[in-house]
Amino acid sequence: MSEDQRTVEMETIVSLCKRRGFVFQSSEIYGGFESTWDYGPLGVELKNNVKRAWWRAMVQERDDIVGIDAAILMHPRVWEASGHVQEFNDPMVQCKERGHRFRADHVESERCPECGSEFLPPRQFNMMFKTHAGPAEGDENVVFLRPETAQGIFVNFENVQTTTRKKLPFGIAQQGKSFRNEVTTGNFLFRTREFEQMEMEFFVKPGTEQEWYDYWRNERLDWFVRFGVRPENLRLREYDPDELAHYSSGTTDIEYLFPMGWSELEGIASRTDFDLKAHQSYSGKSLTYFDDETQEHYVPYVVEPACGTDRAVLVMLLDAYREEEVKGEKRIVMRFHPAIAPYKVAVLPLSRNERLAPLAKEVAALVRPHFMSTYDDAQSIGRRYRRQDEIGTPYCVTVDFESLDDNAVTVRDRDSMSQDRVEIADLVADLRTRLAATGA
Ligand code: ATP
Repeated sequence: MSEDQRTVEMETIVSLCKRRGFVFQSSEIYGGFESTWDYGPLGVELKNNVKRAWWRAMVQERDDIVGIDAAILMHPRVWEASGHVQEFNDPMVQCKERGHRFRADHVESERCPECGSEFLPPRQFNMMFKTHAGPAEGDENVVFLRPETAQGIFVNFENVQTTTRKKLPFGIAQQGKSFRNEVTTGNFLFRTREFEQMEMEFFVKPGTEQEWYDYWRNERLDWFVRFGVRPENLRLREYDPDELAHYSSGTTDIEYLFPMGWSELEGIASRTDFDLKAHQSYSGKSLTYFDDETQEHYVPYVVEPACGTDRAVLVMLLDAYREEEVKGEKRIVMRFHPAIAPYKVAVLPLSRNERLAPLAKEVAALVRPHFMSTYDDAQSIGRRYRRQDEIGTPYCVTVDFESLDDNAVTVRDRDSMSQDRVEIADLVADLRTRLAATGA
């Protein structure tokens, strides 16, 4: 078996995603809608698994982090306090003739690359989507779609702290949709206007933020490796002091080697007490913490790992892709970590022979309540193995004519392609042991 380790082209992944039902262009029958994507039957499983793996590591396996799920629509003052109304702007240029817009720092010439006309002078453009709450469309009922999930955490700091009685250091985690009216979108799921985030605000005693910042940088990098991303395709990039947001005492990006080059996958920021203090001053409510040990009230400092869910899904797809040669034939295999793979098990009757179908369906029904699984009886067994390889299913269970006599099936491993005979009575336990051994 030979492995091709080259970074795969984006086009290859986009086409595999469409062909196999991972990701479709949004509103495709209307010609598509710019830079928006719909997750298909396999994509929704993949994305849910990425979210579950994050939740497991960030919430379930820890006693110092709890979760919330805040609303997308929030009080408009939230975005004044956070600075998004005043500062969430990209300077933009617009061309005279056709109104094409570009980020000022993304254009090199004086003329529009689309139509050749001159640019008007650059102006600020706020990236928040604006709408109105209720039937009237006045200035008084303007609301924004949240551009990040983090603020829903900050405004609930007091509620969570008092109801859970957590002591510092502790964290609040959240996953959900965010919206940014990005000027430049593209690279498939990498930059879109509607996307999901997985963010966690870790509240710490002032003075301890550096050690937690170092801790979370490593912890988050390790998470990607734990769930199957090759370490050589990941790196940490620490910001220079002049790149830092005014409130940040340190920021590091976890970068991935995307087909277009090293780019941000997740950001880890030491945010001082900026957010809680801002909400305290805009809301007039105290957001301090009472430290039993020192008998002091203070506003905690915050370290935030902020990951884009869709970017993480894209990384899982890009990094899993392999083209291998097996006995002179090419096979495409998605080497997803089993926890991330959309289906864990595929049940395949050796052929469509009517004697095999009842037992194969019985085996499928046996497996289905325990693992996300699929059943496939179309075309030759070899082609069906290849189809499961191409969507990354770790185990194929084959029911053959011998199964009718010995009540056993063959379990084939996606990566080694080794095959073992397993009694049907032991099948669920066997698959469970195999999956547990991979950390799934
Ligand atoms: P970028 O510089 O790529 O625009 P950012 O630094 O503005 O990203 P953050 O505000 O730190 O991003 O958001 C945290 C994470 O959310 C990013 O690391 C990224 O994974 C994800 N993210 C941000 N904007 C988008 C987007 N438009 N589409 C998809 N994911 C995004």
